[in-house]
Amino acid sequence: MVRTSGPAVSRYIPTTTKHFVSTEAKLAICPRCTRPVLRAHDEGIPACVDLVPLPNLGAEIAAIARGLWTYTRLRNGYLAYRDTTRLADPAMAGQVHAEHACKGASA
Ligand SMILES: [Zn+2]
Repeated sequence: MVRTSGPAVSRYIPTTTKHFVSTEAKLAICPRCTRPVLRAHDEGIPACVDLVPLPNLGAEIAAIARGLWTYTRLRNGYLAYRDTTRLADPAMAGQVHAEHACKGASA
């Protein structure tokens, strides 16, 4: 435990807290549409993607045009958000999945 000080912070923060943690994607069922999805944390941000990967670059562009984030499923099973700074990384060459567009995905 680390004691923090200051008027805005008046509690103890456990030292075991992990920030920006990434987790392996797990198969789940969307509670709203009952379709299979993959759920994980990507650097601390919850990610929920369609189980079926996008078939090609055109499908990824269409997903981005719809306002969806896209993720690469890495060899270690993690989901990595595909932004312009990461696309040149050879590790980002895995399957690309679109964010699950269903509004109930985070429930
Ligand atoms: Zn859904």
